[in-house]
Amino acid sequence: MAMDNKMMLMIPGPTPVPEQVLLAMAKHPIGHRSGDFSKIMEEVTNNLKWLHQTQNDVLILTASGTGAMEAGIINFLSAGDRVLVGDNGKFGERWALVAKAYGLQVDVISAEWGKPLDPEEFRAKLEADTEKAIKAVIITHSETSTGVLNDLETINKYVKAHGEALIIVDTVTSLGASNVPVDEWGLDVVASGSQKGYMIPPGLGFVAVSPKAWKAYETATLPKFYLDLGKYKKDAAKNSNPFTPPVNLFYALQAALNMMKAEGLENIFARHQRLTQATRAAVKAMGLPLFAPDDAASPAITAVIPDRVDAEQVRSVMKKRYDVLLAGGQDHLKGKIFRIGHLGFVCDRDILSAIGALEGTLQELGYEGAVPGAGVAAAAKVFANS
Ligand SMILES: *Cc1c(COP(=O)(O)O)cnc(C)c1O
Repeated sequence: MAMDNKMMLMIPGPTPVPEQVLLAMAKHPIGHRSGDFSKIMEEVTNNLKWLHQTQNDVLILTASGTGAMEAGIINFLSAGDRVLVGDNGKFGERWALVAKAYGLQVDVISAEWGKPLDPEEFRAKLEADTEKAIKAVIITHSETSTGVLNDLETINKYVKAHGEALIIVDTVTSLGASNVPVDEWGLDVVASGSQKGYMIPPGLGFVAVSPKAWKAYETATLPKFYLDLGKYKKDAAKNSNPFTPPVNLFYALQAALNMMKAEGLENIFARHQRLTQATRAAVKAMGLPLFAPDDAASPAITAVIPDRVDAEQVRSVMKKRYDVLLAGGQDHLKGKIFRIGHLGFVCDRDILSAIGALEGTLQELGYEGAVPGAGVAAAAKVFANS
């Protein structure tokens, strides 16, 4: 029997929302020009800076993650600007599409889907650019479509050595899951979205902006209006918002950020690390191949490329019999991989449940590649030792 209210979301967004966050939303909206709203705006802005480990502005948009990405391009660049874009999956590809849509001169550095971007290729292009024509390096930190974590820290070191280019990064599934120290690394433009590590429903986008990026803003000429971040900065200084914000999502944001502060950044990162390791250990113990290498594993999502069972059949049984929703593959990976999300409001027990359900699913599909129970045992071992 499918029990709708038991459906467990193990996709990389929207992610599960804690009950206290849902309840925080169940209130009448208040006026967004009221003192009460300003208080919330002030609190969430401070807490967003805490989450981003930054003194930079962190601006809040009514948009999904892609809106935050688009804002990250159009506010700081001009038509014809040369940019280096990393593409090793659906979201890296999206960066290139947005940049091209606005007439930027896009130089793509790609890697096969399932492999991390090679920082050396960025180093070579940046070092060769003695004219300083490259205006920005644009990458995805955690590539959700493949479960690969790109080496942002190393790539960014080469950007800093170049000196001129901005580093613009999609941290949609790394922020709130692994360390993204915006000030320590000197990240210029950092985009994220509410339905991922923030543990709240879809609808808010976030962009952190460095002083260097604001300098570029002054001369950037791409057209913008609703996503003109200068407006958001000006109003944020008065704890306000240029347009009507989704007030109830702000209640949710307030509650979720307070939960995150109570847990603490180090504990949040350690939890995601543990969930990732347990999931990967379990998948290996079940004899299923992992899509991303161990040393470039996303903290948010584990992609599996099963060779002896059909990925879509796995997803179907997981959903129908066990009420666990997994993600499939995108584009050419459709039907080839399935993806287990472990981002945001996810605990050790959720992984044991999902792995147990996956073992049941494999049995139902007649898979004989592993000893039943080996996956749960491997995950439990990771939990016992961490
Ligand atoms: C989810 C996601 C986005 C944003 O997608 P939206 O559907 O616009 O919210 C961007 N980048 C990555 C890596 C993501 O996982």
